Amino acid sequence: MSKVIIVGAGGVGGVVTHKCAQLPEVFTDIILASRNEEKCKAIAAQLPRAIRTAQVDADNVAQMTALLEAEKPDLVINVALPYQDLPIMDACLAAGIDYLDTANYEPPEEAKFEYSWQWAYQDKFKNANIMALLGSGFDPGVTNVYTAYIKKHYLDEIHELDIIDCNAGDHGQPFATNFNPEINIREVTAKGRFWENGQWVETDPLSVKDSYDFPEGIGPKDIYLMYHEELESITKHFPEIKRARFWMTFSQNYLKHLEVLQNVGMTGIEPVVYEGKEIIPLQFLKAVLPDPSSLGPLTKGRTCIGCVAKGIKDGKEKIVYIYNICDHEKCYEEVQSQAISYTTGVPAMIGAKMILEGKWKASGVWNMEQFDPDPFMNDLNQYGLPWQVVELDATGLTD
Ligand code: NDP
Repeated sequence: MSKVIIVGAGGVGGVVTHKCAQLPEVFTDIILASRNEEKCKAIAAQLPRAIRTAQVDADNVAQMTALLEAEKPDLVINVALPYQDLPIMDACLAAGIDYLDTANYEPPEEAKFEYSWQWAYQDKFKNANIMALLGSGFDPGVTNVYTAYIKKHYLDEIHELDIIDCNAGDHGQPFATNFNPEINIREVTAKGRFWENGQWVETDPLSVKDSYDFPEGIGPKDIYLMYHEELESITKHFPEIKRARFWMTFSQNYLKHLEVLQNVGMTGIEPVVYEGKEIIPLQFLKAVLPDPSSLGPLTKGRTCIGCVAKGIKDGKEKIVYIYNICDHEKCYEEVQSQAISYTTGVPAMIGAKMILEGKWKASGVWNMEQFDPDPFMNDLNQYGLPWQVVELDATGLTD
């Protein structure tokens, strides 16, 4: 018997709600709450079983706390936007409820991705005897668990880690982002950063490029070095890692549109005055771009996200690649959403299941790689994101 409140009725919220609803023995009572309750109701109407919906502004700690105190759920699954992480954590503290999210806190006024704000809640969560599980999506999330699994079963020491995120799908639109456009563009236009020999090395946005030959017929694609938040927690929890990088594929078409939008100032996050009213260019751009949830029925092709790890096993060098391949159209058939939301929503459901079943349970603030990866990896196979492990002779990346 458990009750969860899912906050956020966007692309990811839709998938988490579908996946939780498929497991009534774990998720007995589900409430989907968001700023706009109509969106919650539209998702609820797609489900084979009844759930409840609610309206909440999660930026408003008092409102969020009142909802938690009235409902007393076992867990809050936060799949609203990164800006809401801290207010929802504050509400969880006030009401004594466990917390899970899929992206680290970001202040709205600055595209800055780091765990410091949420890690600062460690003592407060410990003292309140509640837990926060941070970053239970795919990347961060599954990539952290893959790393922990490699360390547990394949390598005594990980020396080099490359996380590679490939979307080989096509939605047929001239330009659209696969998840919230504002969050996506803030991330992509930020400076790149990777970990090398105990320090961060910064690179200009999308200035480091390589090519990777993806498995199972996906084939070679250009990949670009970016900063991604799991690098911070993974290098903290596996201090033996000498180099950790994150790569993502982008099509030339996406990059061309992004360059023009940047050049004309449409990706800015500083307010500008338009007809006497302050607007933020990136938020206006979001309003005119396709809603990512509208891409569900249009997107074809597959994603391939995985970790290439090089290290030592029994004194010998070894390279291991763990990845998942996910098909956009199959995801749509199952939960009416494309693979980007699917690959985030399924791990959010599994993270919640780990907490509710007591498999991952400890007070304080935790990242995914700090728990035993095995039960999570088993559930990935069972609930829609099966993975493969292969041993490689070379990483396949240019050094
Ligand atoms: P969407 O923009 O589709 O959905 C966000 C939802 O949150 C919307 O329903 C929105 O409401 C709601 N929301 C926004 N602000 C508030 C608020 N103040 N109070 C209540 N609800 C609010 O985003 P996605 O579903 O694509 O992404 C959800 C989260 O998942 C993001 O944090 C994103 O960064 C993360 N993510 C993580 C990934 C991973 O692999 N770890 C990958 C992809 C995404 P409204 O509809 O009214 O705007």
